[in-house]
Amino acid sequence: MLTIKPNLYPADGYRFKETDGTIFRGPNWNSVLKQVVAYRERAKLPKGDPLREITEQACARQPAICFDDQGRVAPKTQLSLKSKCLKWLNGFFQAKEKGESLAFVSAGEAEKRAEICRACPANHDLNISGCSSCKQSFAEFRKGILESRVQLKGVHGCGVLAVDLKVAVHLDEIRIDNPNLPAVCWRKKAL
Ligand code: SF4
Repeated sequence: MLTIKPNLYPADGYRFKETDGTIFRGPNWNSVLKQVVAYRERAKLPKGDPLREITEQACARQPAICFDDQGRVAPKTQLSLKSKCLKWLNGFFQAKEKGESLAFVSAGEAEKRAEICRACPANHDLNISGCSSCKQSFAEFRKGILESRVQLKGVHGCGVLAVDLKVAVHLDEIRIDNPNLPAVCWRKKAL
């Protein structure tokens, strides 16, 4: 289990980012913890395990301020695909909230793209079923961005682009030249 060293000031301050994008800051970890607990109660979010979640985030950002059960410095952890997709969704959700208009493709085109993703090895399950606050954030962002557009089945997170495919297949974005994308990928720029 990871623990934050008590006497070290984190380089980017005492902070925690909630799954809905809200950021909490305070003069120490205890203050951040209290804010997260109170916020989840007010917003009727699942209680979760705030201490563990704050610790994991802080240690992922700055492994040197943490140690594990054996007293070793915490290994550098990578953001999960779930976290990357949530961050990506949050960007579009915030843009929409600010009144920016997003461009979408037709329903038929979205279905054609989804069909390609379903057969693609980069289409990974996001494993959100066991985390109610993540489930709630994904549902809110997807609905907020797509409105009445259909959330197509069988598409999850793209391991190459780190995007949520339920939304990505509907968005009219420019094609990109990424050598890691398979030749059949609808997002790949044709040479
Ligand atoms: S690489 Fe392309 S086809 Fe494969 S899952 Fe990602 S977006 Fe879909």
